[in-house]
Amino acid sequence: MDTIVTPGLVLKETRYKESDRIITLLTPGLGVISASAQSSLRLKSKLFSACGLFCYSEFVLVPGRNMYTVREADVKNVFHGISSSIEGMSLAMYMAEMASALSPTGDEAAKELRLLLNCFYMISKKKADLRVIKAVFELRTMSECGFLPQLVYCRDCGTYDGPAFYLDPAEGCLLCESCAQKAGKKCNLDAGALFALRHICLVEDKKIFGFRISVGSLAKLSTAAEQYALTHLDKPLKSYAFLRSVLP
Ligand SMILES: [Zn+2]
Repeated sequence: MDTIVTPGLVLKETRYKESDRIITLLTPGLGVISASAQSSLRLKSKLFSACGLFCYSEFVLVPGRNMYTVREADVKNVFHGISSSIEGMSLAMYMAEMASALSPTGDEAAKELRLLLNCFYMISKKKADLRVIKAVFELRTMSECGFLPQLVYCRDCGTYDGPAFYLDPAEGCLLCESCAQKAGKKCNLDAGALFALRHICLVEDKKIFGFRISVGSLAKLSTAAEQYALTHLDKPLKSYAFLRSVLP
């Protein structure tokens, strides 16, 4: 049977039998897939590291009826720093579960993979506040998976900026302060949070973390980003409660 060679990021690993694992992979071409990695928990197995959680590897896969089988795997990148903190680890679990739940395909899968690799790198190397990484991931994932909010003007009057705005998590649109008041909504963004929101959703990949934000604006951005992302998922994420307990 023909094999498939693809890079993939391990989003989840489930142990079964003595030393086997079923892994969930995010790949650029096949989207989110499951693969069985037999004997991969044996220390001597060549698959041991390459099939580990959050490892980015080059896989040789054999297609099967229900899932792929991993024939070979070579490590491309291990984000060692992720597991050095419980907060970083639980954030990575949350992101991986969200990517898995959205299960992007085609171009969206390739973009989501790039984003996740970028965010894992930032967590691993401690390059940014975990709350910033979380908000960037939530907003950018939603934007790239078909839920880009309407971010340019107030939906009702066309106002571009102001001290306070409302991001409607269900509608995915902005209301200025006075239009929000008329609609009976309480503003959830200040000027700094709105600037960051536009930056994260609209800027090119490489510049995604290239913004500064005050503590106060970040608190607003974090709440709005999380609400926006979770509103668009079909079901709650299992990793969410734990993440909230370590990164409130
Ligand atoms: Zn308005």
